[in-house]
Amino acid sequence: MHELSIATNLVSIATRALVDADETRPVTIVKIRIGELAGVVIEALEFTWDVAIEDTRCAGARLEIERVPARVRCAACQVESNVGMPPQFVCRQCHQPTGEVVAGRELDLTALEIDDGSEPCSGEDHHEAPYS
Ligand SMILES: [Zn+2]
Repeated sequence: MHELSIATNLVSIATRALVDADETRPVTIVKIRIGELAGVVIEALEFTWDVAIEDTRCAGARLEIERVPARVRCAACQVESNVGMPPQFVCRQCHQPTGEVVAGRELDLTALEIDDGSEPCSGEDHHEAPYS
């Protein structure tokens, strides 16, 4: 599935960033930004996320998605217009067709949140019982 390979790719980008930063603590949240025109089905991506992070450095991390509305800029009057859904590549000022997409194709990893151990319950000394 298309979305699974996207998720797998995001995990490897995140893993590389963690290695580069010498970060060994667990990842709690992976933040990404997806443009409306990136061709990603959010629901499918969320669905495949748990599979993609299995046995990786991002295992257990939550995926947080920011949607970026698609925008085009008009070559004639430089006005930026929202493309909307379904996409209409037309300047809202002069109604000329425009194909210069200035936003909406993003598919970026924006941030990783790391578990720094300061959980609300860390005041209590709680140990996990070992498997028996
Ligand atoms: Zn225009």
